[in-house]
Amino acid sequence: MRPTALILGAGLAGLSTAVHLANKGIEITILEKRPFAGGRTYSFSREFWPYGIDNGPHVMLGCYKALLELLDIVGGRNRLNPQSRLLVPYVLPGSVRAVLAANALPPPLHLLSGLMRFSLLGWREKMSLAKIFFKIRFMSEEDSFDHHTAYEWLSGRHQGGKTMEIFWRPLVLATLNEQPENVSFLQLFRVLKLGILGGRDESRLILIPEGLTSTLVEPALDWLAGNGGRIELNRRIECIKWAEDEDKIIVQTNHGGYEGYDVVVSALPFRNLRLLTLDSGIDTSLEAMEGFRGNAILNLHFWFPEQLISAPMACLQGVRSQWLFVQSRHGDLTHHTLVISSADELIFKESKQELAQSLLGELPELFPQFNPGEVKFHYLTIEKNATLVCKPGIEAARPLPGRLWKNLYLTGDWTRTGLPPTMESAVLSGRMAAEAVARDVN
Ligand SMILES: Cc1cc2nc3c(=O)[nH]c(=O)nc-3n(C[C@H](O)[C@H](O)[C@H](O)COP(=O)(O)OP(=O)(O)OC[C@H]3O[C@@H](n4cnc5c(N)ncnc54)[C@H](O)[C@@H]3O)c2cc1C
Repeated sequence: MRPTALILGAGLAGLSTAVHLANKGIEITILEKRPFAGGRTYSFSREFWPYGIDNGPHVMLGCYKALLELLDIVGGRNRLNPQSRLLVPYVLPGSVRAVLAANALPPPLHLLSGLMRFSLLGWREKMSLAKIFFKIRFMSEEDSFDHHTAYEWLSGRHQGGKTMEIFWRPLVLATLNEQPENVSFLQLFRVLKLGILGGRDESRLILIPEGLTSTLVEPALDWLAGNGGRIELNRRIECIKWAEDEDKIIVQTNHGGYEGYDVVVSALPFRNLRLLTLDSGIDTSLEAMEGFRGNAILNLHFWFPEQLISAPMACLQGVRSQWLFVQSRHGDLTHHTLVISSADELIFKESKQELAQSLLGELPELFPQFNPGEVKFHYLTIEKNATLVCKPGIEAARPLPGRLWKNLYLTGDWTRTGLPPTMESAVLSGRMAAEAVARDVN
């Protein structure tokens, strides 16, 4: 008989676990509370725009090896749009435009030549940034990096002022969904070391133009269906507990109990897992997670006759929105999305409608041709708890992906994968958990 695994949650971590387990001959069943899979990466449509709207634009870096490997297994990689090299356009008030681009030289020179041509920073700022790039490129990861915020580490190395506002803050917000003042330097170090300063291929951005569901989720579901996997939707897990004899896990859902599986793998977000296991006996292993919190990402989708930028995305300066994405064009309308990371403070101050109007109202400063009155539709999405906030000191409290307790295994972007909580961390954690399960059941 083939070993059996019950996977809780059908986000990228759950799907990655399922694919890797099925590939190792293990029979898998996934339970998901929502009527669709994908977790924090999904697309939906509205009557006025049936072509698909992502819950928020997601960007990969060339260093996302585990996600690329997963897409090689299930298909879907050919739907990605990788840049040939890192290229970030900037849009500033007063029609000021600039581009930060890498070239083909070995790292960190690939970024330095582009930096030298970057018109928004002066020579002194460029030289001090170049010094940091060299320093980080040849530094190794240390536990002490988790004792400082990114801001403390950078400002101690003359990275304040314009360098902070034009280069570091947008980078930290985009990759870590938190302000440099609150996030651990360790996570920024990883983004730089593995991604931005990792090399020409590793640092380039990979866009997902055909949408999250059709690129990342449907290929995995189709592959699983073809390989004997089962997914049960609308199954909300209500508690995870052990049977009297202490060896069997019982997963209680709104559709009854699930038991008898050789292993259970939780691919749930950290809050849900903690709540579902209260009183189960594994509490103590998860106690350190009590201080964990997430931060929100706000996305304002709007449809406008003109395409505001020629590139697929741009970093915005001088307005509250941080990034602008051009998603797709159909008929005479272009779908744009404004993104604000670390949006917790913002979203509790104004209503959605007020926020949407005021964010659109700021855009003429950057795009004189933009008239908010010509916006045909807009739609604001807020993903509360979009990602775990990696404040200093949190790394040791992130449990390792793999076996947690008896035959309960753990995965999720928030586990200690050696990466910040991202799509890559989710997929890697799934692969790591699957490897641990396969070692134990075979
Ligand atoms: C707006 C936004 C933008 C982002 N941008 C980027 C980006 O550009 N690049 C990047 O790398 N990352 C980005 N991320 C982060 C990325 O989406 C996540 O790191 C990743 O999707 C997490 O996957 P996961 O499987 O670990 O968790 P999740 O996707 O949260 O999966 C958990 C699953 O468990 C299910 N679940 C929860 N509770 C229960 C229950 N009680 N019973 C049954 N099922 C349950 C959920 O419905 C969900 O399907 C972004 C996130 C958001 C929200």
